[in-house]
Amino acid sequence: MSRPGEPRVGVLALQGDVREHVAVLEALGAAVTLVRTPAQLAVVDGLVLPGGESSVIDKLSRLFGVREPVRERIADGMPVYGTCAGLILLADRILDGLPSQLPFGGLDVDVRRNAFGSQVDSFEAELEVPALGEEPVHATFIRAPAVERAGVGVDVLASVDGRVVAVEQGALLGTAFHPEVGGELRFHRRFLDHVARVSGA
Ligand code: GLN
Repeated sequence: MSRPGEPRVGVLALQGDVREHVAVLEALGAAVTLVRTPAQLAVVDGLVLPGGESSVIDKLSRLFGVREPVRERIADGMPVYGTCAGLILLADRILDGLPSQLPFGGLDVDVRRNAFGSQVDSFEAELEVPALGEEPVHATFIRAPAVERAGVGVDVLASVDGRVVAVEQGALLGTAFHPEVGGELRFHRRFLDHVARVSGA
């Protein structure tokens, strides 16, 4: 366990844009552990689920034996930030998933995979995110999902074209886009604030 006053955060490092998240978290002064095993998960106070391919991350999480431990930590209140594939993994329900695909769950939302189209349908947008202040967020969407239904305990933080693309439920944060590729630090800072609060640092 990390010492009081020094929360340690993990990035699930099975597949996806792990390096980009590590760079942002370290730029914000966080101590970062790459998480592939239950032992590595046990030492972190919060976890980032990166973008990538949610069905592959799901499969690898079962192979590496971390799926159930991640689910237990989420149920225990561990702060999590999921981007894109990570948002899909954090959702309670996946629409248009592969037949065998399972999420970790925790966030009371229905998320549709590839809601904006396939690989060619990547785009960037300036998003109003009032919870993060006045300056808009420059958001990169890559085969992005969207939240189609959100439970009563879920706050919608941002939408694009009427589709919900950023949500928060307690210490669980999810974005359909990738702030980590555009130098946007505020979502990760918000995640680290959740970690500090929950871990009592
Ligand atoms: N479409 C991908 C999936 O289903 C997510 C894409 C991404 O993370 N950039 O997992």
